[in-house]
Amino acid sequence: MAINVKKLVKSAAAGLANQFGQHNKDQTDPKLWVLMYHRILPRDDIRFNLEEPGMIVTPETFSMHMQEIRRYFDVVSLGDWVQRKQQGLPLPAKACAITFDDGWADNYEYALPILKATNTPATLFAVAEKIGTNFQFWPNTVLALLLNGRSAELNRHPLFAQVGAEIDAMHKTIDREYAAAYIARLKSFSDNEIFSALNEIHSTELLAGKLPNALMNWDQLKEMRDSGLVAIGSHTCNHMRLSDALSAEQLQHEIKNSKEVLEVKLGGSVDLFCFPNGDYNEATLNLVTETYVAAVTTKRGIIDADAAKLHELTRVAIHEEISNSRRLFGARLSGLL
Ligand SMILES: [Zn+2]
Repeated sequence: MAINVKKLVKSAAAGLANQFGQHNKDQTDPKLWVLMYHRILPRDDIRFNLEEPGMIVTPETFSMHMQEIRRYFDVVSLGDWVQRKQQGLPLPAKACAITFDDGWADNYEYALPILKATNTPATLFAVAEKIGTNFQFWPNTVLALLLNGRSAELNRHPLFAQVGAEIDAMHKTIDREYAAAYIARLKSFSDNEIFSALNEIHSTELLAGKLPNALMNWDQLKEMRDSGLVAIGSHTCNHMRLSDALSAEQLQHEIKNSKEVLEVKLGGSVDLFCFPNGDYNEATLNLVTETYVAAVTTKRGIIDADAAKLHELTRVAIHEEISNSRRLFGARLSGLL
């Protein structure tokens, strides 16, 4: 009973947010919604259950989104919007730009056909030195180990033993929610600490063949760019979180070299940047500001064009559970919930 009441209240709130939200109102001052997507995967794809729920949208839902945004917004490419803003040209009252983080192979397989079918521009932020390699993001490795019954092997390393004990105290069964909590807790360690702990327990051998390649290859990335719909931005060289754990040289490498790598491989200039995990400090922000025309964060918010900070652009994160109906998607765009 209590659950039903909670559900009812939630559903009513979504309905109201959809109806009265900023996306559904005339705007006098220009605004920009930057939508943040990661993976586009159908439920029956083997990769669906090897990912955190908060990272995925199904192709059906994504296709619905690409149609819905046209009802509310002028759909723009982020780079074009930024350029118009810099040149002082008029901006749409309500603009919406689509972004993808990381360069997942599934973006090529499932998102590109939908972008083409709906003629929707987008920006894809690629991890420059990992494109075309068998690189795995550590959250996927950890999730796959947990879901494949490899907790005992993980616990051989004190770092994982500590995190495992904490999560065991809160979650009874090892499922994707358990893994999501585990991964969130692991983020208090640096990427280097986590990667070396995974190396020490020989995670690659433990998972032999169980994790499909994460990222697309250079031909696929080029094909996305050559569609004329997808602009490529940088998401660093190695997807290191740009925090105090990195040296000045590493920061320089991740921020400046990633631009160079992408420009050499793809031709053309790379002007947009995306902070891994949304992490940055003052030094990082300064370096990004001198290297790129604009950058996106993971901070949530609708952008007010007049007050926009071009190197700290906020976004609206989208995943399946909170957006798989027109009403829920509208509520997510409302700025109210
Ligand atoms: Zn990322």
